[in-house]
Amino acid sequence: MKKPLFVTQPYLPPLEEFIPYLEKIWDSKVLTNGGPMHQQLEQALCDYLGVEHLALFANGTIALVTALQALRITGEVITTPYSFVATAHSLLWNGVKPVFVDVDPNTLNMDPARIEAAITPHTTAIMPVHCYGHPCDVEAIQKIAETYNLKVIYDAAHAFGVQDERGSVLNHGDLSVLSFHATKVFNTFEGGAIICPDARTKKRIDHLKNFGFVDEVTVVAPGINGKMCEFNAALGLLQLQHIDKALGCRKVIDAFYREQLAGVQGIHCLNDAGERVANYAYFPILVQADYPLSRDELFQKLKDGNIHTRRYFYPLISDFPMYRGMPSAQRGNLSVAASAAAMVLCLPIYPALQPLEQQRVIDIIQGT
Ligand SMILES: *Cc1c(COP(=O)(O)O)cnc(C)c1O
Repeated sequence: MKKPLFVTQPYLPPLEEFIPYLEKIWDSKVLTNGGPMHQQLEQALCDYLGVEHLALFANGTIALVTALQALRITGEVITTPYSFVATAHSLLWNGVKPVFVDVDPNTLNMDPARIEAAITPHTTAIMPVHCYGHPCDVEAIQKIAETYNLKVIYDAAHAFGVQDERGSVLNHGDLSVLSFHATKVFNTFEGGAIICPDARTKKRIDHLKNFGFVDEVTVVAPGINGKMCEFNAALGLLQLQHIDKALGCRKVIDAFYREQLAGVQGIHCLNDAGERVANYAYFPILVQADYPLSRDELFQKLKDGNIHTRRYFYPLISDFPMYRGMPSAQRGNLSVAASAAAMVLCLPIYPALQPLEQQRVIDIIQGT
């Protein structure tokens, strides 16, 4: 049996490089609550990403939940069904009703042309996702938000390091949320962050992630425990030393897939959204009707070759039981997203993927 290949394999720097970080933690005895590693990583990420303020979190989901708290979001929020389930779950955890709108067929990001029709007197915010790290139409979304006085919170879990002509894509909207989960481009095993434009908001977020404490005796909000601990922050500092190399490897793999799959009838490689700097976080293909196999048959054929692809994003969030009864979750409202979910397959892409391993994936898709 051939070696199993997965969609992603977390990048791990040499273990000996991590030991000095552990020694520092052991010496300082500071394990959490905004210790030295945490402070260093917040600054290092601001510098690397090109953002002003960033608050670290224990994971991306708690960061999403807290971002909504920080802006006091209530009522209804317009979001996309074509994402990881945490996007909409973060709304339910805030007692907010998600309203799903369809996606753009080219980018599979929220289609700005669908937003206005979904706005009601209860709408308070828009929560789009930079799906696969491809930026949303941030200008169009901002314009609608300003017209209707809505907040914009980007689920930027896929968008680490992505830049458009204006710099980091994380600077758009009121807040952006990153995930540093093991499967993401940049990981701290578990982790996440909120990016915000001003020091005052950052302060409120820092209070909220620490139970609402402002000082020893003052609690200003029903906060949660969302703090990143020193161990994870140290992992982040080490990963950051290797991130450019890791992104470089992804770029080469992305280019080879595009070259090899370009002529395969019925296979469409999703294009980027015109970003100036991409992160090659995923390699989604659409298996179209003129391909000899259905998407699920190709999925199975790859699996038989011990290649474990993923159907991101299938099922749609709007098809899960806690959402599917909502009027906006109906198929007729989400036909582009439903069609993408039926065709999509994400192929292995990660720094350690070897050329011969990638060739195994390509050979099966080419049917050779
Ligand atoms: C990974 C992911 C999340 C959740 O992040 P965690 O760090 O795993 O909690 C949220 N949204 C999207 C789009 C994701 O891919």
